[in-house]
Amino acid sequence: MSNKSVYVFGPSRTDGAADMKNTLGGKGANLAEMCRLGISVPPGLTISAEVCTVYTEQGADAVRKLIEAEVLAGVAFIEKEMGKKFGNAADPLLVSVRSGSRASMPGMMDTILNLGLNEEAVKGLAAKSGNERFAWDSYRRFIQMYGDVVMGLKPVSKEDHDPFEEIIDEIKEKKGVELDTQLGVDDLKHMVAEFKALIAKRLDREFPSDPWEQLWGAIMAVFESWNNDRAKLYRKMNDIPDSWGTAVNVQSMVFGNLGDKSGTGVAFTRDAAVGEDIFNGEFLVNAQGEDVVAGIRTPQQITLEGSRRWAQLAQVSEDDRRTKYPSMEELMPEIYQQLLKTETALENHYKDMQDIEFTIQEGKLWMLQTRSAKRTGAAMVRVAMEMLEQGMIDEKTAVLRVSPDRLNELLHPVFDRAAIKSARSIANGLPASPGASTGQIVFFADEAEQWVQNGLDVILVRQETSPEDLRGMAAAKGILTARGGMTSHAAVVARGMGKCCVSGAGAIRVDPRARTMTIDGKVYKEGDWISLDGSTGLVYEGKIPTKDADLSGDFGKLMDIAERYKKLAVRANADTPEDARVARNFGAVGIGLCRTEHMFFEGDRIKAVREMILARDEEGRRRALAKLLPMQRSDFEGIFTAMDGLPVTIRLLDPPLHEFLPHDDVNQREMAIEMGLTYEGIKHRVNDLHEANPMMGHRGCRLGITYPEITEMQARAIFEAALNVKAQGITPKVEIMIPLVGTVREFNSQAKVIRDTAEAVFAERGSTVEFMVGTMIETPRGALVADSIGKQAEFFSFGTNDLTQMTLGFSRDDVGKFLPHYLKAGMYEQDPFQSIDQKGVGQLVKMGVNKGRSVRPAIKLGVCGEHGGDPASVEFFHRAGLDYVSCSPFRVPIARLAAAQAAITNAK
Ligand code: PEP
Ligand code: MG
Repeated sequence: MSNKSVYVFGPSRTDGAADMKNTLGGKGANLAEMCRLGISVPPGLTISAEVCTVYTEQGADAVRKLIEAEVLAGVAFIEKEMGKKFGNAADPLLVSVRSGSRASMPGMMDTILNLGLNEEAVKGLAAKSGNERFAWDSYRRFIQMYGDVVMGLKPVSKEDHDPFEEIIDEIKEKKGVELDTQLGVDDLKHMVAEFKALIAKRLDREFPSDPWEQLWGAIMAVFESWNNDRAKLYRKMNDIPDSWGTAVNVQSMVFGNLGDKSGTGVAFTRDAAVGEDIFNGEFLVNAQGEDVVAGIRTPQQITLEGSRRWAQLAQVSEDDRRTKYPSMEELMPEIYQQLLKTETALENHYKDMQDIEFTIQEGKLWMLQTRSAKRTGAAMVRVAMEMLEQGMIDEKTAVLRVSPDRLNELLHPVFDRAAIKSARSIANGLPASPGASTGQIVFFADEAEQWVQNGLDVILVRQETSPEDLRGMAAAKGILTARGGMTSHAAVVARGMGKCCVSGAGAIRVDPRARTMTIDGKVYKEGDWISLDGSTGLVYEGKIPTKDADLSGDFGKLMDIAERYKKLAVRANADTPEDARVARNFGAVGIGLCRTEHMFFEGDRIKAVREMILARDEEGRRRALAKLLPMQRSDFEGIFTAMDGLPVTIRLLDPPLHEFLPHDDVNQREMAIEMGLTYEGIKHRVNDLHEANPMMGHRGCRLGITYPEITEMQARAIFEAALNVKAQGITPKVEIMIPLVGTVREFNSQAKVIRDTAEAVFAERGSTVEFMVGTMIETPRGALVADSIGKQAEFFSFGTNDLTQMTLGFSRDDVGKFLPHYLKAGMYEQDPFQSIDQKGVGQLVKMGVNKGRSVRPAIKLGVCGEHGGDPASVEFFHRAGLDYVSCSPFRVPIARLAAAQAAITNAK
């Protein structure tokens, strides 16, 4: 740990800089950087994130001992810069205390504003500002925040309102006013007294009046909030290590609530939803810090253009817009010009889209934050490509700017156009996070989670969201809020998750107690279906079908660039001609795994498969196989045609038998009739075939070894299909793959059946096709003896699903029972079935690669487990020296981009 724990920033001295995020957190580092750029930032100090670890491990006393002297010196610095004294009742220095970790975690941790006020100082503030109302309003806000965040005064139950808000509502009701702003000084004084009484009564403690006690309480509360449930969950969802900790920023307050020349806002240098290069944002006149984010008042737009667009969406007339909701550009033209200059300077400096927060205090603009803006997948792609075109970044940076997983949002369905035409739109809000979603209404986040666990699709409907709703938001298909703007918590978090969200739909009346929402007098109950379009902000009644997205434009350009940088080829796992076509559209250069057993699930085929499995002898099996042969052949023809000229790896049958057996009476009786056997006979045979552990049982090449006629039929179907399409001018590139091989003898036995069948079919037809015979490496033994197998096999494809199952000894079928707990307890950092366990299973992959190449240098090496579509695993496979990865069709673009990123970062 370094000696220094506190770093100051201000016009006369700045200790930190943008590249010190690990120490200062994103917020602290960027505040320092803005000071260095000469941008006006309220002076302050940042307590290093390393201190957070001290707090977690040793507690508050140790922290205080460690940093007390430095904090005192830091506060003295702020006092000097501001010309005010902390704790001076006549003219108090007030500060904000905010978290700020290395990775931005919007709204997850705690913030306290107006710290330093007490019964004396509030009078001093009133006298100094000449605004008694402002002073008392600041004080009541401080008590409210501090009481909640530091002292822990929360609602009693989830149905209950915030206890402070209840007091405010009572006072407003008594006065007969609707808005807080309509309350006078005496009301606010009364409110302060009530707040304090509430705290004393509920917590049996007085509200602290000593500013230093307040400050230390707030600092510790921010450290404490690093470990609150929502922050932990957010870290888990975003792969942020717990060990990073949060820094704490103590910064001189500036006030946006000092009248009509003051205000506060949030802006983006480009559009965070679609990526358009247009400065945009929202602000509130005469409001303080968190008001915009909290989504309590409807904010106004910063630019005139934005204001006009907003009015159109919100169906507000131009007259109303100009008079009631004018833009900052119209209302405060000078400040607007300064803001415009600052946002341009910041974007040019950071060479990335920024999300900025600012406050205007009596005509002076102060910047409170800048950070790389969270954005949707679509915006990531567009911003990267436009910045590349604008010469701000180079190709490699553009490729690295897009998180591969976020491409998901572009690849996934939008509403079916025809269906949407006849859909009834019932309300409109702001298009906060694009995409289409349809689901049943729920009103509470925890219930959203439960419903989803029960297999239902839900839309979470809230008055406004708070960070507590995070889990429910993650579980829901979409989020609808009645209040809040584009920068409200719901909007920011939804975009971060790539989840469809419509916010600020003002026509909706949400009644959580009754579990209803009312629109224009019509009541919608919990469980009713609605649909959201996060790109237009429209809310529809009922369930609306969706359709695939369009993949041209910037997406296509990005993929073209990625193609030039990546070394790994990307194939797809596809079992049908339709999947093959989708995969090829997404840029797959072959099929890496066609699971032939998946071709048997459709229609009547299952009966023939069951007949084959249930047959007691070869003759019976051959009878069933003869029925399957034409079906398999025509499927293969379809796949070869769709992949004309590209390699297609067809894997021999690997059915976990239990998935195919008829388990219930009805199906067993049906099979008895089908096979001309008795019901008892079938029942008996099913019992015979029962396996205690089917995943380790009679599957993979073991099946073909006991029943070679199965392999023979499959090989025949493949070769006949290949010859048939060849006759039509198609080029089939056939690769036949043997599953679950552990010894070279297993491989040889199956390869012989394949080669003999090829010879027979070629002789019958008087024509040939080229083909390769290879193996999956998916048992640990297969990897251990890969040199011996590699002498015979022409290619390897690592089956990392089974390799993970067998290496870890985690049954793929049963892992759900313990893995969630295991992950929570930190036994593994990630689900090893999603992201390859590099230290364990990864070693076997590397060994297989080395052993395979040692005996056959040109051996083709790929991976076809689920890991082939996981960006972190793709990076590993790149380093391991594989030739290709194969993944499900919708993950092909993700894998292509991840492969390009792997090549770029590993070349650095
Ligand atoms: C594997 O085991 O990784 C694999 C691709 O095969 P399956 O998932 O079909 O067992
Ligand atoms: Mg497998």
